[in-house]
Amino acid sequence: MRTKIVAGNWKMNINRDEAMQLVNDISAEIQNHDINGNRVMVFPPFLSIQGAQDASGRDSRVEVGAQNMHQAESGAYTGEVSAKMLLNAHVTKVILGHSERREYFHETDELLQQKVDAALKNGLEVVFCFGEKLDERHLGNHFTVVEKQLRKALFHLSKEDWKKIILAYEPVWAIGTGMTATPEQAQEMHAFIRKTISDNYSEALAEGVSILYGGSVKPSNAVEIFGKPDVDGGLIGGASLNAQDFAAIIKAM
Ligand code: PGA
Repeated sequence: MRTKIVAGNWKMNINRDEAMQLVNDISAEIQNHDINGNRVMVFPPFLSIQGAQDASGRDSRVEVGAQNMHQAESGAYTGEVSAKMLLNAHVTKVILGHSERREYFHETDELLQQKVDAALKNGLEVVFCFGEKLDERHLGNHFTVVEKQLRKALFHLSKEDWKKIILAYEPVWAIGTGMTATPEQAQEMHAFIRKTISDNYSEALAEGVSILYGGSVKPSNAVEIFGKPDVDGGLIGGASLNAQDFAAIIKAM
């Protein structure tokens, strides 16, 4: 049995005070819900992490992570935050490779490999995002694109390293657009991802990796998407900013 995960990517939303409120509200919403060994995570902007942590202290089931980090240990990188700084702030997980980072901040597969290495070296858990763009799907290249993204950033890792990797397949055309992949499209890609990992490592390893789906997941479609055998939960953007919606999605896992 794989661990299921529902994770909220708050992006550049929710200030420190709002973070405390939102985590308190999420905790209240899921108070009587048994998450059954599964995991709930939120990823606030850096400055709101502590607020979320303070509030989650009351419900340790809501884990708090960061949305990004720099690959260097320290140094002259104005505006950046290192893995060690995250750890010092009791942040033990980080999202890497989100399509918005790839697009607006020009993060390449090569750079992401460095970031993944830096995160793992410091013992952080990584939620690694990847996925094809609309034109790539239209051209029928989505499997090739996804395989390349995985290969370049992750397939140099050891089997041991993979214990710290959570995958999030997020077709770029589905993010924030309201255009969700169908449960069948998600399942088809997730099965392909698992097979690719199995071919490069082992079936046992592939069977243990949690693969989340992301892209316009809402309370209305979560049950169906999460019901697919290779979909192990979701990375939620817009709907994670509302405690009731996020709780409904958590209850769907
Ligand atoms: P969305 O975002 O749920 O708003 O589509 C998902 C994501 O970017 O992780």
